[in-house]
Amino acid sequence: MNINELKLILKNSGVVGAGGAGFPCYAKLSDKADIILLNCAECEPLLKLHRQVMQVYANEILEAFETVRKTVGAKRAIIAIKPSYKKAVDAVKALLKDFKNVEIGFLPEVYPAGDEVVTIYETTGRVVPAGKLPIEVGVTVFNVETILNAYYAIKSGAGVTHKYITVTGAVKNPITLRVPLGITVKEVIALAGGATIKDYALINGGPMTGSIVSETDVITKTSNAILVLPADQYVIKKRQNNPKVSLKRAMSACCQCKMCTDLCPRNLLGHPIEPHKFMRNISSGVANDVEPYLGTFFCSGCGLCEMYSCFQGLNPRTLMGMVKGSLRKGGIPVPEVKEAPVKEERGGRYILKSRLTARLGLTEYNHSAPLDEKEYNPKKVKLLLSQHIGKPAEAVVKMGDTVKVGDLLAAADENALGVAIHSSINGMVTEVTDKYIVVSAN
Ligand code: SF4
Ligand code: SF4
Repeated sequence: MNINELKLILKNSGVVGAGGAGFPCYAKLSDKADIILLNCAECEPLLKLHRQVMQVYANEILEAFETVRKTVGAKRAIIAIKPSYKKAVDAVKALLKDFKNVEIGFLPEVYPAGDEVVTIYETTGRVVPAGKLPIEVGVTVFNVETILNAYYAIKSGAGVTHKYITVTGAVKNPITLRVPLGITVKEVIALAGGATIKDYALINGGPMTGSIVSETDVITKTSNAILVLPADQYVIKKRQNNPKVSLKRAMSACCQCKMCTDLCPRNLLGHPIEPHKFMRNISSGVANDVEPYLGTFFCSGCGLCEMYSCFQGLNPRTLMGMVKGSLRKGGIPVPEVKEAPVKEERGGRYILKSRLTARLGLTEYNHSAPLDEKEYNPKKVKLLLSQHIGKPAEAVVKMGDTVKVGDLLAAADENALGVAIHSSINGMVTEVTDKYIVVSAN
């Protein structure tokens, strides 16, 4: 198989990054990669998805990973994983004799080991230049579930119809499930036995980078976890911060201690990002020193500065995100910057995941959330046409059409990072809009 053939398979099967922004998998394939990397860091507290999928489907994942390696012509294929994911590590090790070009790259038990720029440095020693993509240093990074989806796509052309998801926090049975795309958050909470508290809020994703959602939101190709937490829990409060209030608080309370910069993972890799200077400038209205503002382009959004580092409880990430958004909107390009060395002190500034979990007040919710693949048959699903970065898919069905699991509902745009969307249940199409398609079960 050549790269273009593989790209077409992945595009038509709707394979996207199964987490984060949902970057279409085909768009990452490049013959410039001499290393491909499988990111099994799962570094945010409470998430228990990738290590379990890796443990159960190691063979399928390694087979597809090897196919990708051969197709793009990479020399090395590295599984980036933490030693503490022992069962997953053992499952991979048992297969290495059959996959001679695949190796394990151990990651430290820290946050954010899964930030791909950090993952690449830890496992290859290469530093992705600020503002550039990993392919600049000959590396392409894939998510564990993405590669499992690629396996099914390569084997049989199967479309992505289901999502693994960890449902944890204040629920009766913390669990990791495989559910049809398009079911509601309320349904997945019910599958975890329901909430154990009355007044709760919900996060889609990890506590550091996830976003607040409601029970009526639906599961998409990028939903990794639903966290049920008390409405007044620290993580929830921080995720609900109001940028205008955050700015006023920065004006009165930023003492320029520099802790946000000293612990910033991107700064420690030599990228020109200094959140303390940004906070100084924005809180005092400095307009003639633009570098700290331009530095926001290099923020990964990991959240360490505002969830962990700042003892004043300020929100550098939120404010930086706001400024970065305005710069992009205003057409300001990402500045070209000179390379700088990795900071010598980096090794002494790791944030242990266990410590982060405690700091976030999440230790009591750190459940095992075992994988349970029992089938769930919903009454209906609402499949969003945009579950990925790039142009939304375009509906190819109409109301009243009968569809089966895996049937094409919406086709990928040819040129704009599009991917296809497939039905996740058997049933009838009961609603088609420019945002979503509803399929009701037979
Ligand atoms: S850690 Fe907080 S108080 Fe210290 S410089 Fe950064 S934003 Fe200001
Ligand atoms: S969120 Fe904060 S700690 Fe993370 S990269 Fe951005 S500035 Fe640095």
